Amino acid sequence: MKDQIKQLSSYVPEEPLAAVKKRLGLERLVRLSANENPFGTSQQVKQAIINWNFSETNRYPDGNATALRMAIAQKLQVPPEKLVFGVGLDEIIELISRIFLEVGDEILQTTPTFSEYALHAQIEGAKVVSVPCDPQTGKNDLAQMLTKINQKTKLIWLCNPNNPTGAYQKPFELVEFLKQVPSEVLVLIDEAYIHYVTDFEQASALPLLEQFPNAVVMRTFSKVYGLANLRVGFAVMNQKLANYLQAVRLPYNLNSLVQVGALAALRDQEFVASSIKKTAQERDKWEKFFAANRIKYFHSQANFIFFKFPQAVKLADNLLHNGFQLRRGLAKDWLRLTISDQADGQQLRQLIADFKSD
Ligand SMILES: *Cc1c(COP(=O)(O)O)cnc(C)c1O
Repeated sequence: MKDQIKQLSSYVPEEPLAAVKKRLGLERLVRLSANENPFGTSQQVKQAIINWNFSETNRYPDGNATALRMAIAQKLQVPPEKLVFGVGLDEIIELISRIFLEVGDEILQTTPTFSEYALHAQIEGAKVVSVPCDPQTGKNDLAQMLTKINQKTKLIWLCNPNNPTGAYQKPFELVEFLKQVPSEVLVLIDEAYIHYVTDFEQASALPLLEQFPNAVVMRTFSKVYGLANLRVGFAVMNQKLANYLQAVRLPYNLNSLVQVGALAALRDQEFVASSIKKTAQERDKWEKFFAANRIKYFHSQANFIFFKFPQAVKLADNLLHNGFQLRRGLAKDWLRLTISDQADGQQLRQLIADFKSD
């Protein structure tokens, strides 16, 4: 066995909601720990899956996800050959790590950020070099990251907006960074939450790919599209790189149900727009609440918010017993909560205020 595997501890997935409820004897539990869409999934997805032709079950799916590929290519205005699909964005992160990293290589990331980048680097025996985010804003500290690039650096992971800080950086800030990154180093821009950016109109880094062939933009259907259970993610990259990923990935990674589901979700932009609007309104209320209560938080452009609380673990336990599960363990004294609907938000803010005044 590879040495580096022996040192890994396996990913602890979200415990199923029903199991947590049973364990704690709760009647209602709202999971705000996984950044799922609290408004569910477009009903058009349900219809598309019901309408799917069951008699195709004995046939292999379309390994190219052609219909979905064409629809996304058209929506994003990119050539279809530049798209690579994965069983969730997780699979793309795994593929890129597997293809590029050898024992002794380095990856560069922010801390805190999405844990999968480091996990897959470790699996490949690469070293994880972490640069703390800007302590004021929670943004990727691009200037500091530049100083850490060396001969061994193969991948730079930029989550934007960053999970868990929620902080967002505009394309022109990334341009200045990309200009200084050697062209043989890949820059992976994870836009899992890009739809939730409201501060800036042209939020995505997609237009930068022309100028910087070493940049990759990654997206998922798990968040705003409400398809976390179906497992669809994709990345946009230069053609040559896309060919490598296509050669390495499993040929039938996306089954047909998932392909029709994602296509229906993509077509229902009304559901997407309404999810974004409701989330942004609630996000505003959360920021006002934290400011009013002198609780440190980062300005968020995602569907979650990251805040600092001296007794974070105690608070999280208290909220869990009151039916709200937040994400802990990402940074000492910090909690991340997924922004939910108005009723949940109101109740949760009251619980936090009560806990604070106890
Ligand atoms: C949720 C998430 C992903 C993974 O999404 P899947 O498509 O469900 O695998 C990737 N990156 C970030 C930053 C995420 O928060």
